[in-house]
Amino acid sequence: MGTFDNYECEGQMDIFDWLQQDNEEKSQEVEISEPNKCCGVTPWLHKSKCVHWDENKPQYYMMRYICPKCGKMAVDNIGWPIRGYGVYEDAAQQALKAWNSPDAVFEIKDYYDPKKGGYITINLDEEDEWFNLYGQSYQDYKAPLVEIANEEYRKKKMGEHINEKS
Ligand SMILES: [Zn+2]
Repeated sequence: MGTFDNYECEGQMDIFDWLQQDNEEKSQEVEISEPNKCCGVTPWLHKSKCVHWDENKPQYYMMRYICPKCGKMAVDNIGWPIRGYGVYEDAAQQALKAWNSPDAVFEIKDYYDPKKGGYITINLDEEDEWFNLYGQSYQDYKAPLVEIANEEYRKKKMGEHINEKS
């Protein structure tokens, strides 16, 4: 789950297409500032830093909203998670727009599905923000999900072991 995040910036072709689309739609954009709630809570804005190849260029990010309770996020028409891409403000704004769009389609991917032990990864300096939003420390959120993930893994391994024998 953690390693997946390191590869997020590779889907850039899709993102550029999406940005193009976004620019065309800008004229009819409405002012939005707060993400719609899901499962009674504010979704988490997941952020990853893109590799910073060129020191002279600003840091780019990929961002998207995920519900910490059910794991859902906005996807495009082929089921690919929609991610805001650009400098911090741009990426955040796009993530917000994708989440709040009246046409948004949502999916729960296995790696974020709490029922399968999926959990959201956050940055160390975001732990206070997490607590303020959900009234629960990030560690308390994550611990039971890691347990589920370990149990799922154990079951899968056992299944493989049984298959090998038969
Ligand atoms: Zn939810």
